[in-house]
Amino acid sequence: MAKIQFQAEAQRLLDLMINSIYTHKEIFLRELISNASDAIDKIYYKALTDETIKFNKDDYYIKIIPDRQKRTLTITDTGIGMTRQELEENLGTIAKSGSLAFKQEHEIKDGYDLIGQFGVGFYSAFMVAQKVVVISKALGSEEAYKWEAEGVDGYTIEPCAKEKVGTEIILHLKENTEEENYDDYLNEYQLRAIIKKYSDFIRYPIKMDMTKTRLKEGSEHEYETYREEEIINSMVPIWRKNKNELKEEDYVNFYHEKRFGIDKPLAYLHINTEGAISYRAILFIPESIPFDFYTEHYQKGLELYANGVLIMSKCADLLPDYFSFVKGLVDSEDLSLNISREMLQQDRQLQHIAKNIKNRIKKELERLLKSEREKYEQFFQTFGRQLKYGVYMSFGRYKEVLQDLLLFYSSTEKKLVTLDEYVARMPGEQKYIYYASGESIERISKMPQTERIADLGYEILYFTDDIDEFAVRMLHKYKDREFRSVAGSDLGLDDKEEKAKNEEADKEHAEIFKKMQDVLGEKVKAVKASKRLKSHPVCLSTEGDLTIEMEKILKNMPNNLTIKAEKILEINTEHEVFSALQNAFAHDEEKFKLYTELLYNQALLIEGLPVEDPVELTAMICKIMV
Ligand code: ADP
Repeated sequence: MAKIQFQAEAQRLLDLMINSIYTHKEIFLRELISNASDAIDKIYYKALTDETIKFNKDDYYIKIIPDRQKRTLTITDTGIGMTRQELEENLGTIAKSGSLAFKQEHEIKDGYDLIGQFGVGFYSAFMVAQKVVVISKALGSEEAYKWEAEGVDGYTIEPCAKEKVGTEIILHLKENTEEENYDDYLNEYQLRAIIKKYSDFIRYPIKMDMTKTRLKEGSEHEYETYREEEIINSMVPIWRKNKNELKEEDYVNFYHEKRFGIDKPLAYLHINTEGAISYRAILFIPESIPFDFYTEHYQKGLELYANGVLIMSKCADLLPDYFSFVKGLVDSEDLSLNISREMLQQDRQLQHIAKNIKNRIKKELERLLKSEREKYEQFFQTFGRQLKYGVYMSFGRYKEVLQDLLLFYSSTEKKLVTLDEYVARMPGEQKYIYYASGESIERISKMPQTERIADLGYEILYFTDDIDEFAVRMLHKYKDREFRSVAGSDLGLDDKEEKAKNEEADKEHAEIFKKMQDVLGEKVKAVKASKRLKSHPVCLSTEGDLTIEMEKILKNMPNNLTIKAEKILEINTEHEVFSALQNAFAHDEEKFKLYTELLYNQALLIEGLPVEDPVELTAMICKIMV
């Protein structure tokens, strides 16, 4: 029979599994059992909502059958099954990847990245099996099909006989090697231990025939062996258990069983509320960013159960966008099984649960911030951007919820601080919350614009994320203190003497500044005496709402907005370079023009802006050198 090729990505993943050096090969069983359980969820839901499907609760189970003679391990389920087309699509391709573009952007270096991206899933069977056969009959279908693959070079599909709806996965185990004894997966007791460890909370019975011994009838010391079917798992879903019956390990296992991530959860919440609306929930904050988190493929949402029956695998309405990183599930007795997606959005109960969940997540984050600062900082490094994005979104509608969860790097503390901590430390005379934006902490700490404020002993928040300035624009104030950029036109220092001095300098040098501006033309809005520079000769500041950092960000956006900030070239009139400039102004027009251009270009470089004509700039520097 002709082989059908695997899709390229699937083939790579498969290849990785076949040659896996992964130490926990046993997890293949968890993956296959989870798939089986999902498939039963689907048929169970159908049966409950469609009267034409008659099913008995006892009809839903997963069975594990080791066969020592054939060296096979079979996992059967009575789930929804797969049609021929589904076999091809689900087992021959990686549908959820859909992110070739993403992959190209982020060159995948080693296999673990790849596993991280897709989760191990069905293909993990190939860690322990040299041949995998899947026999499946889909609900509502007369025919059954057999899918078979022995390696990366393709699979076959052919019709076959199968009485009941469901799926049977037959693993032909690999030969034992020095490192790995695949016979373990034929041993009932080993299998039982693996199932207990990873799949205890699966809601359907996982059955296996166990060999047992008993006293022979009529005898007092003679034993005989017999076979008996046993249900291995406890079946109570973890969220229905009591919190104090559970250990952290149970939650971590559940997180993996549910494939919420391959990392460890950073924190988890187990909610059980009774009242007007009762629900149970388990929520996780992942430790690392899901691979597709910042792509359009990422879908936020929680699993939603109506009284134990899965009705939606990603209910987006349960999570606000700014908490989209949260994984988990919600189960409520008060939801109707037959509710449609459209109705769900309007559903008052669901809205109530969503609000409740939002508050609980917020509380948990506040708790981490307060009592487990290090963990919180780790969280913030990972997902802080999402919170800042949340402040910016919807015209700052959620700022009240989020502002106390924000952290920024502080110039004086040299670590991440909250706005509350900043404000609490402000000296009496300081009126504003100062910030400086730039590419990195390193770079900002060298910005000439920060000199004056730093000199006054004021703390400066360093904004290194694209979103920072935009978010703060939305906040506008924190505890009645406005935010001010150290590069803005008005530092708000209210130093009368200083102000007078500056105005005087501007007046005194009005002629030279005017001439400089003529030289620079449209490039700057004005040239002024600087009130923020001490040791540096020149810098740029901005007037109006748009800062230089914002200009850079907007320029890099897909729609390539070329909105320009209103730039002011600030000159330190106390710097010796200014004397040279004055001198040139008086005696040598060519030189004056040259100096003006040079100063302007220096300011651009300091700002991290591209110089308009690098060749010309070098030519100018050469001119002074000779
Ligand atoms: P995932 O389960 O993460 O989507 P898998 O590679 O494990 O990825 O499985 C791919 C798809 O194959 C599943 O989403 C499901 O639609 C289908 N599938 C796998 N195992 C079964 C099964 N036992 N019964 C029905 N469908 C299955």
